[in-house]
Amino acid sequence: MSLTATELSEPARVLASRLVRVLREEYKDGLRDRRGVDRLLSLWSLEVEKLPAAEARRLLGAIRPLARGYASMAAGERQHTLVEVGQALGRLAGEAPRGQPSEQAEGPKAGKAQLRLDSKVDYVKGIGPPLAKRLVKLGIWTVEDLLTHYPRRWEDRTQLRPISQARDGVVETVEGKIGNIQSKTPRPGMRIVQATLSDSTGNLQLVWFNQPYVAKQLIPGQKLTATGKVERRFHETQINAPEIETGAERIHSGRIVPVYPSTSNLTQKWWRQQQWRIVPTYSRLLPELLPSQTVSRHGFMPRAEAVTEYHWPSNYDARERARLRLAFEELFMLQLDVGMQRQERERDPRQTFYTQGDLAEFEKLLPFAPTGAQARTMREIWDDLQRDTPMNRLLQGDVGSGKTAVAAFAAWVAVKNGYQAAIMAPTEILADQHYRKFVELMGPAGIQVGRLSGSMKKKEKLSVCEALREHTLDIVVGTHALIQETVDFARLGMVVVDEQHKFGVMQRTVLKQKGLNPDLLVMTATPIPRTLALTLYGDLEVSRLDELPPGRQPILSESVPFSERRRVYEEIRGQIRAGRQAYIICPLVEESENLDATSAVEEASVVQREVFPEFSVGLLHGRMKAAEKDAVMERFRIGEHQILISTTVIEVGVDVPNSTFMLVQDANRFGLAQLHQLRGRVGRGQHASRCVFMGDANSEEGQRRLRAIARLADGFDVAEEDLQIRGPGDFYGFRQSGFPELKVADLLKDQELLDLVRVAVRELLARDPDLSGHPDLRDSLSKRRVDSTELVH
Ligand code: ADP
Ligand code: MG
Repeated sequence: MSLTATELSEPARVLASRLVRVLREEYKDGLRDRRGVDRLLSLWSLEVEKLPAAEARRLLGAIRPLARGYASMAAGERQHTLVEVGQALGRLAGEAPRGQPSEQAEGPKAGKAQLRLDSKVDYVKGIGPPLAKRLVKLGIWTVEDLLTHYPRRWEDRTQLRPISQARDGVVETVEGKIGNIQSKTPRPGMRIVQATLSDSTGNLQLVWFNQPYVAKQLIPGQKLTATGKVERRFHETQINAPEIETGAERIHSGRIVPVYPSTSNLTQKWWRQQQWRIVPTYSRLLPELLPSQTVSRHGFMPRAEAVTEYHWPSNYDARERARLRLAFEELFMLQLDVGMQRQERERDPRQTFYTQGDLAEFEKLLPFAPTGAQARTMREIWDDLQRDTPMNRLLQGDVGSGKTAVAAFAAWVAVKNGYQAAIMAPTEILADQHYRKFVELMGPAGIQVGRLSGSMKKKEKLSVCEALREHTLDIVVGTHALIQETVDFARLGMVVVDEQHKFGVMQRTVLKQKGLNPDLLVMTATPIPRTLALTLYGDLEVSRLDELPPGRQPILSESVPFSERRRVYEEIRGQIRAGRQAYIICPLVEESENLDATSAVEEASVVQREVFPEFSVGLLHGRMKAAEKDAVMERFRIGEHQILISTTVIEVGVDVPNSTFMLVQDANRFGLAQLHQLRGRVGRGQHASRCVFMGDANSEEGQRRLRAIARLADGFDVAEEDLQIRGPGDFYGFRQSGFPELKVADLLKDQELLDLVRVAVRELLARDPDLSGHPDLRDSLSKRRVDSTELVH
């Protein structure tokens, strides 16, 4: 094959990367061809033929034959086909071809450390800039990042299996002598290398597709170990693409071997070879962070040893002890951070004082009577305001439970007592909507409400800023724009952060710093189990709106396959004829983003032209200008558009009670929490609402999600199911909440450990409140804080 690196035009490059994405998904899905690679490829080829440049058509046109007949290939062949196509595409896109990793690993012992922990991985022997670039995708920049790039799992290859006992379908390690080596070319473009491996009990075939260089590495009579999945067919036993290892040193076999999270064709063999050298050498440079009392009390192994054992366990018991130590340390840093913040908070007493705030008076402003849960939460807030230290309260309430009214109460009390309030929302649409509501609610009481968002004209922004400084504005509602340096308040006493899981910890802190040690109310529809909340937010008090406003009808949810599209459209028609409105949600903005998911732009034109020519269809997505978004939202709000086709930009907060129908297209592409948030856009008024999740789930997990969302109505149940399906590592909200990713600890399984950690942190802070006796620990903690600040800006 002789495709050379070429300058491809932009459309051709886009096409190439679309195919890469499809192939990658196929790979991740276990080469099961459930979405029909042949079909996708022929669709793709049609696009290729439309390319204007003949050269690009020729180059991309050469790709398809490489994978023709995918459906009828065996798994091993599929894998090699994908790799081959991927490499060909990579060459087209001008990517440097992957260098073969060196076959010789250095010793298992620690070598001489030439670099520092914070040295860039570019300088690590055997990595270099091109590979370093790929490692960035895994969040690896420095030597220290490599050390903490822990295995995803381990394979027990301590047992070498006699060849005659190698089990079909199982990954086994066998040891033997190489016999006959053959190279075949069964059809153009396919080379097969096959070698016989035998031991005293029998023999099997080692097979490689399109890796001709393997033939050169093999020597008849050579002794080696081979690891891979055994396939028994007819009378033959074979291992496809085995990992082989020669020589005395065992890195890939004869031990418990690590399996690393990987990317971009970096093989496990490559990973092991790197980590075999790096881990013992550089883990010695890691400072001991845990106080010595803690280490000895729990009988922990030293940090360097724990890191080494976790990568390269001498046995499973040692690995578990290493894991405990590393998990303890992770949770310890987390709790220490929270503990230090609490200390700081408590050192700073309240500077605002509340005497006025009659709940009955506020209620008069509301167009409805508060629910029991809303009233209780408002009283809790009032009580917080009477304490010596500022309020730090988390309000959890399912979508539609009425958090905005509670936020309005907090802001109103602040204003009543002569302070200003700031409300921060994650999107402009939501900020706008809150602004409107606050004006409606507070205007009659003579309270001045302003708005600040990134898309406003500079002049408008300046005048809002001035009004805040002069205290001619009482309340400001805005987006991230609120935390900019130019925004100053005269007397900021209350900060409310809506949908706080969309913000980082630092953003909250920055906004708070603009005030008189203000009270803080953060709100979220993401229910978090209490123990997790404690870890995440330390000493936040938690209120729950566990009651929906009266008169709500349950949202009838259903998951349906694409084939029922017509019926769903008819249902939408019926709703609109009855005076209601509908949302249609699509995962993407434009068709070009993916081969087989519906895009909002395309969908809007099809739905308007072919499905609902009699109605007005609006389109909303994240790439539109703020003013355009506002205009569309407004037309939908006042009922000019009957249907709104949107991406997930409307996921949070949007409130148009007359919209009672939601159709989520490609629902299998969304996470459970996101589906629940989306569904929360309907069922907000007096009319019965419907939500239809349409999609053909192509994985078991996807199916489980679709079933769950149709069955579960309550946010807490959804959260629980999400936790079950995904595991806490991916539990939604964590990443966005500025919560550092846990590499070893598991917040659900390590609850007991967490209790021990809390005790240890409390004792340490009692002994050494500013950590002056633990400089390494203090440095490491402040470095973590710097890291999370960088994420925010
Ligand atoms: P969320 O908790 O999702 O932010 P909102 O504050 O947007 O919910 O409230 C959802 C809808 O319910 C809004 O239309 C709001 O006006 C209405 N609502 C809130 N509280 C009550 C109540 N006590 N009685 C009737 N309607 C209410
Ligand atoms: Mg809300």
